[in-house]
Amino acid sequence: MRILGIEGTAWAASAAVYDSDADAGGANSSDAVFIESDAYEPESGGIHPREAAEHMHEAIPRVVETALEHARDLEESAADRDTNAQAASGPTTDDLAEHRSSGQQAAPVDAVAFSRGPGLGPCLRIVGTAARALSQALEVPLVGVNHMVAHLEIGRHTSGFDSPVCLNASGANAHLLAYRNGRYRVLGETMDTGVGNAIDKFTRHVGWSHPGGPKVEAAAEDGEYVDLPYVVKGMDFSFSGIMSAAKQRSDDGVAVEDICYSLQENIFAMLTEVAERALSLTGSDELVLGGGVGQNERLREMLAEMCDQRGAEFHAPDPRFLRDNAGMIAVLGAKMYEAGDTLEIEDSHVDPDFRPDQVPVTWRGRSER
Ligand code: ATP
Repeated sequence: MRILGIEGTAWAASAAVYDSDADAGGANSSDAVFIESDAYEPESGGIHPREAAEHMHEAIPRVVETALEHARDLEESAADRDTNAQAASGPTTDDLAEHRSSGQQAAPVDAVAFSRGPGLGPCLRIVGTAARALSQALEVPLVGVNHMVAHLEIGRHTSGFDSPVCLNASGANAHLLAYRNGRYRVLGETMDTGVGNAIDKFTRHVGWSHPGGPKVEAAAEDGEYVDLPYVVKGMDFSFSGIMSAAKQRSDDGVAVEDICYSLQENIFAMLTEVAERALSLTGSDELVLGGGVGQNERLREMLAEMCDQRGAEFHAPDPRFLRDNAGMIAVLGAKMYEAGDTLEIEDSHVDPDFRPDQVPVTWRGRSER
């Protein structure tokens, strides 16, 4: 089975092809996923929804065409293998009749999966339109994927974990998810901005270009700790106070390296504390990480250490699967397609506020549900 995935919720115009026949399972699954992405890079400030949508409009056709070329190559190689096998055994009369009557070329993919949300409305609408058009042109089913569940499922897929707790640490979101009774439940989440967006707000304040996360990570290497707020309330957490304090410290002349170091220590410790509580409350001994902030080595180090101390396993997918990417959409799209979880065109509207706990999980084994 081959699935085309399309992603475009905010900054990454991305298309991917997941080839389940080439999937060796676990971390090696990466080999079975081809991804082509084109990032929107704002000239100044943060992500502007209209500019991001213009980027999608321009880049989505390009990345989709590249992904489809890859799918056609896979299709041709598979056809060559079949022809060679047939030449060895000799074609049957049925094969020949079928070949003669099929004037039409088969679609190179079995289904088109796309991000339905959450994300920026203008971007989602462009991706939704492209996905519907492709599904109709290729005459294959349409699969609507929740972007946040895809961040989680790619970690479950590449780790081979059965029922992990997932920490999604992305640009516009931050939450802990775990599976129970047919849905991924939100165990805890940010009470204000997403974790990446919070970091980006600080870096904009000090005049750094978007995205700020990698710059904070680099600057933190030369920093020392200065006091900043730390806000965890039960299973929820907040970033607005810490960001205001960080901006204030910068205006007061505190070295930016020290602020970056302290931001990372506090924000990632908050996420680690809540992740540990989620493991403890669910009884799970598996944690997966999702989202673009998951590319940060200090965050991964803290989570790995916490898991190690409590005898739990920790998995962070490859960076190309952490930041926004269509590979995770194609992989979850394949699971949903196999479960018969496809969409009629008239029901395929996008949803900028699509929460992960709104998604009926159709693709896990019946006994798990
Ligand atoms: P969402 O997935 O919630 O829609 P998003 O579309 O903004 O979020 P992601 O690709 O998940 O996208 O994450 C992008 C965020 O990751 C940005 O805020 C960026 O600053 C942050 N980021 C990227 N690399 C790092 C890093 N090394 N350290 C910390 N943050 C990082």
